[in-house]
Amino acid sequence: MIEIEGLTKRFGDHTVLDDVSLTVAPGEILAVVGPSGAGKSTLSRCVSALEQPTRGQVRVDGQDFSRLDGAALRSARRRVGVIFQSAPLLRRRTAAQNVALPLEYLHATPESARERVSTLLERVGLAERADYLPAQLSGGQQQRVGIARALALAPSNLLADEATSGLDPATTTSILHLLDELRTEMGLSIILITHEMDVVREIADSVARLDAGRIAEYGSVSDLLLDPTSSLGHQLLPDRP
Ligand code: ADP
Ligand code: MG
Repeated sequence: MIEIEGLTKRFGDHTVLDDVSLTVAPGEILAVVGPSGAGKSTLSRCVSALEQPTRGQVRVDGQDFSRLDGAALRSARRRVGVIFQSAPLLRRRTAAQNVALPLEYLHATPESARERVSTLLERVGLAERADYLPAQLSGGQQQRVGIARALALAPSNLLADEATSGLDPATTTSILHLLDELRTEMGLSIILITHEMDVVREIADSVARLDAGRIAEYGSVSDLLLDPTSSLGHQLLPDRP
């Protein structure tokens, strides 16, 4: 569960996030949309505790990150899996070795790590590609490895920051539908930063539009679709022939 309350983030005198409040319950997908520079990645970095809020709170599974440090913060961070744009995998490591990375940091035994990695690769549909290097995988397959790696430590929350940009539409759809299945299976709270309005309509429960660091619109996808005055609702409507 992710609870963001009155989050303000400033860099110098530049206010990048201004009093942002959002909630993502277990098993829910919140889509965050908005133009480049709106503050979406900064929001994501505040939730993964890579940035400290200037004001306000981020609570993950009920715990306020800003009150934690050292070992407690490292352990809390494990509850948030992050999928990056273009899945930056280690080039000299196989798919399986990339997925094993977070487990190695935790000093998992080789046997338990092997078992966990094979379960995860199987789940993302890459059991047969375990020993391939990233360069031998397609962009979509690399992103699946990135998802498996993000899930290695069994987080209860997932952040995907434009995780499908650069992928073709069919691959994008299949990756986002994989996330949709995983949130149901694992009860994940997911924040999905994306431009894919078709997919937002299909898989997100709620959607927030950020504009210059403020929440311009926020609501459930079904409410916004029914609201004729909502600009987000219009963007969410399927293209009519
Ligand atoms: P988005 O992901 O929506 O494109 P970002 O969160 O990346 O937006 O950036 C929002 C604004 O914050 C931009 O104007 C960016 O230049 C600024 N910004 C982001 N990170 C930093 C930083 N570490 N220091 C200073 N300014 C930053
Ligand atoms: Mg960004």
